[in-house]
Amino acid sequence: TVQECKDFIKEGLRISELYNVPIYVHVTTRLCHSYGILEYGTIESINNEGRFQKDSKRFVNTLSKAMANQRKYFDLISQFAKNRKLFYLLNKVKTFKSERNQLKKEDPNIGVITSGICYSYVIQACNKLKINPPILKLGLIFPINREEICQFANEHELNKILIIEELEPFIETFSKRVFCNFCDAKRDLEIHGKDYLPNVGELNTDLIMRFFSKFFPIKNKELLEDVKKKEDILKEVLPQLPIREPTFCPGCQYRPIFYELKKVVDKISEETGIEFIYGGDISCSTLAEAYPYQMIDWVVCMSAGIGIANGMAHVIDPKKQKLITFIGDSTFFHTGIQPLLNAIKNNIDITIIIFNNYWTAMTGQQETIDTPRDFITHFGEKSKTEKVRIDLIGMLEGLKLENLIVTGSYDLAKLERIFSNILVKKGPKIIVINEECALEKKRRLRREDKKSASNKKTEIYYQITDSCVKCNECIEYLGCPAINAIYVDEPLDTIQEERELKYYIDQTRCIPKVCPGICQSTCKNYAIKKTIINP
Ligand code: SF4
Ligand code: SF4
Repeated sequence: TVQECKDFIKEGLRISELYNVPIYVHVTTRLCHSYGILEYGTIESINNEGRFQKDSKRFVNTLSKAMANQRKYFDLISQFAKNRKLFYLLNKVKTFKSERNQLKKEDPNIGVITSGICYSYVIQACNKLKINPPILKLGLIFPINREEICQFANEHELNKILIIEELEPFIETFSKRVFCNFCDAKRDLEIHGKDYLPNVGELNTDLIMRFFSKFFPIKNKELLEDVKKKEDILKEVLPQLPIREPTFCPGCQYRPIFYELKKVVDKISEETGIEFIYGGDISCSTLAEAYPYQMIDWVVCMSAGIGIANGMAHVIDPKKQKLITFIGDSTFFHTGIQPLLNAIKNNIDITIIIFNNYWTAMTGQQETIDTPRDFITHFGEKSKTEKVRIDLIGMLEGLKLENLIVTGSYDLAKLERIFSNILVKKGPKIIVINEECALEKKRRLRREDKKSASNKKTEIYYQITDSCVKCNECIEYLGCPAINAIYVDEPLDTIQEERELKYYIDQTRCIPKVCPGICQSTCKNYAIKKTIINP
């Protein structure tokens, strides 16, 4: 649960301090996307001054000390595994049967072992199917206490255990080993899990209901039929639904870059036959993998865009293929500097585009090392604490590169000149796109606007006029989601092909104070007009 996420981190830190071991808290995607009401407890203040305790035996891991430390670590882990207190602190046994203290004849003596978010699915499935198996919910999945697992099976007189976990059969493999080798009374216990459940993707309540139905007598058969029906309908309907490609936010500063880059690259490819290869990275720019840009050829991990391109450059023929890689500013500071230096040192033929948007936008607008200090506000006040800023451009200028270009995002003509000129050059080329994340800029300007004393607020509107010939340049090839189409009012019985479409800009999504009308620059028919009120 969300509460456990918080509690386990606190508990993990405490145990780590107590036993001198690293604790990993593993969270799954669904849990990361969950929210709930939290009980905070008391927030303790730390008064003692931090002090490093010298301990070379522990911290200097040269050969003999490293081996001694490893031995110590394994001893600790086996002590951990036997620690009953720890087991009951982090793991929970939910036992309706033991509460009733007697087994009914029809009870099939089946127990469930699960962990994390899967526990919620198990509870939902049990409630829907009206079954009450004993459930062992593991909070600590490594090391697992052998004796306690055996006791769980013995106490509840189980002859089958169903293991519910996502991805790899970690608990299942461990449990099979324990019951086979260390639990004489339960050597013949049946264990099922990945023989029925998928080891790819997330689990859900429906999947678990179907799994349970193979083992438990289910009275309400209709419920399972409904699950099956739902699955069949989804199988049929999903392929027919229009694909919603992922895309950048309305007015996003990345959109004009990929729009213009695609045009220039297509032109160069047509003239020279050179194919461009695109190394992507963990960033909002990965959204360029989708239509209409389709300009990402791999995304692996942070900085693998430039990293992999470094190796690839040694084997591809530069007359036939050329490399472009994309990286955001936070990733660049995190792990991008090293592969960039490598590219320069080895004179790799590569164009590296660094998106300097000043925020770690994709993970929730955390500030980066390069965020201008006056952009950062805490509780509406300008930051007084964050004084040091590392200037990305200044740092790159220090490398004395022959081809370093710094530009903004919203001037398409300038971008065309830059890309046409630089992409055909040899060696390492760096283009820094210096433009704040449009979403964060919109919020920042709105906050500043609210504070402003002036009543005379400027309003800007971009609108599509009747001169629009529906060439689709703005709506499809630029692809700003603020541009939309509706059918003009017609009698409802008019057949779809004969109904008239009208293109319009959704004023609730357009951000004209941030995006200076990129759609207008793309419209060759001058069909998009700009209106300013209170200029
Ligand atoms: S001005 Fe045009 S491109 Fe910019 S956000 Fe509005 S609709 Fe989108
Ligand atoms: S680019 Fe201009 S003419 Fe083409 S669809 Fe958009 S508004 Fe209409």
